[in-house]
Amino acid sequence: MAQRQFQTEVSKLLHLIIHSLYSNREVFLRELVSNASDALDKLKYLCVADEAYKSLSFDPRIDISFNKDAKTLTVSDNGIGMDAEELADSLGTIARSGTKSFLEKLGEDVKKDSNLIGQFGVGFYSAFMAAGKIEVTSRKANSGEAWKWSSDGKETYDIESASRDTHGTTVLLHLTEEGLEYANRWSIEDIVKRYSNHVAFPIYLTYDEKEWDDKGKEKGSKTKTEKINSGSALWRRPKSELTPEDYNEFYKQISRDSESPLFHIHTKAEGSLEYTTLFYIPQKAPFDMFHADYKPGVKLYVKRVFITDDDKELMPVWLRFLRGIIDSEDLPLNVSREILQQNKILINIKNASVKKILSELKTISETDAEKWNTFISEFNRPLKEGLYSDWANRDAIIELVRFKSSAVEGWASLAEYAARMKADQKYIYYISGGDEKTLKASPLLEAYRARGIEVLVMDEEIDEIVVPQLGRYTLKSGDLSKEWELKAVNRSGADEELGEAPDGKTENDAKPVIEKLKNALGERVKDVKLSRRLQDSPSCIVADENDPSLQMAQILKAMGQGNVPDAAPILEVNPSHALVASLKDTDDALVIADTAGVLLDQALLVEGVKLKDPADFVKRLNRLLSRK
Ligand code: ADP
Repeated sequence: MAQRQFQTEVSKLLHLIIHSLYSNREVFLRELVSNASDALDKLKYLCVADEAYKSLSFDPRIDISFNKDAKTLTVSDNGIGMDAEELADSLGTIARSGTKSFLEKLGEDVKKDSNLIGQFGVGFYSAFMAAGKIEVTSRKANSGEAWKWSSDGKETYDIESASRDTHGTTVLLHLTEEGLEYANRWSIEDIVKRYSNHVAFPIYLTYDEKEWDDKGKEKGSKTKTEKINSGSALWRRPKSELTPEDYNEFYKQISRDSESPLFHIHTKAEGSLEYTTLFYIPQKAPFDMFHADYKPGVKLYVKRVFITDDDKELMPVWLRFLRGIIDSEDLPLNVSREILQQNKILINIKNASVKKILSELKTISETDAEKWNTFISEFNRPLKEGLYSDWANRDAIIELVRFKSSAVEGWASLAEYAARMKADQKYIYYISGGDEKTLKASPLLEAYRARGIEVLVMDEEIDEIVVPQLGRYTLKSGDLSKEWELKAVNRSGADEELGEAPDGKTENDAKPVIEKLKNALGERVKDVKLSRRLQDSPSCIVADENDPSLQMAQILKAMGQGNVPDAAPILEVNPSHALVASLKDTDDALVIADTAGVLLDQALLVEGVKLKDPADFVKRLNRLLSRK
């Protein structure tokens, strides 16, 4: 017998599961049944796709049994099985790094949330919520050897040679006192019906039924085996026969989410291509949405035979939060997983599905404010990714993305912005680079506000990449269309429609002051200009039309692109502000240098830019404040 140590993360996870996540203990059965179902799916697939398995014929099934006296519960399948190495890999480590980093982030406050278990792919270990010891006996299809994995779920596990009559896996739980409540027919039936009713394979429960004689005396018992799930592919049933509960339950089963989905889209296509799709949008973004190794949520079936649940190309990456199934009638059953991406039929299904989803989202955005708001708060960011990665669907996606705005609370669409625009407004304005609060407080917005011009507030990092690339927005209504350029307010040139500077000051009036500032600041600025956009603040910075914004430069640096040139900003000053005006009548070089330094540094600070020399700023500020 070989004893082995669990990978550290597994030990941590097991500890967490056993000690914290017990409030919804029963989900362990769903996890074991799902694993069995996956194993059957895999073997069924090999039987059609792989020559070596073609002669193998088997009746896929899942069996559950229990023994109250021996305190055991067994879940067994005749699926693909595992060899010794796979047992160690699958049940001794956590392979996906997303799960690892997720675990690291988990604090002490996850107590209640056993839903997380399945979600981050550690389903099997949840069985330790009900068992003090687990034995997994498995024989791989096409092999005569069987192996037994056993563990008490603490530090170590054993793997030893074993025997099993057929291929497949048997998971034997030695139940704890708390787990004993599952060793009865009714609990098991109830849990399986609730979570696993639509598993596509029959699930049988074996139990002893007592027998009574005529006088009502117990005369013994008889062992019975009964199918306890409905076992049909739900997506193939007509919509009219399905209740919202049916849809929700199926969602929970395939997504392992414990919450109901936000909505679903069930489509049956007939005609040149025949297929069924059932897609769900979750209420909450999947935990691994921003992990590179996220688990795709859409499964591919061909004529109800499972093909894969691990193909990231089935749907565009930006739709990776989507859950559901695609079932095609036209693909060959033995379609190779490797060439799926190039398959024309699949590409057509994918394109049609994305269009359908986008049009459904549009309807929701127009008819159901509550659902739409939930959707946007969770998925606005991947939508924006779609904007730059999915050119074919850009026109539809652009109508769905939402932004914050200087004019309204909550979200604004570009169409709504266009509808609120002043009649002669030339551009759609936006401010980006920073959080919502900083951006909304930016002095750059003052003049736009004063003139009643709305500015979109782009507070997500991704905006810095998406919006400049987007460039323009076209509003179409009927045959008419109107187009505007999107303009960042922190750019030189975005002020052309703001008219004059406050108080009608002209470039000439301000010239002496501007010259003094330019001399004092030297290389630190690209230029100093009279500002038309400042109302109350003394100064602001803008980037030259073609330079990257300061915030963009910071993002690029943070991403490790160290060779971004430091483009000096343009300093704009408000000649009516006392601090700026005070420069007119002084020739004191130190006062001019201090004022100039403070005007520039404070403009950088309100934009959320980190000062290179904060001590210098503080020194100058104090000197100015203590001047008599
Ligand atoms: P997940 O199912 O999310 O991958 P689990 O911890 O439940 O995570 O299972 C880990 C792995 O163990 C599975 O991916 C699978 O390879 C293997 N496995 C678990 N149960 C079975 C089973 N009944 N038959 C074959 N393989 C299994």
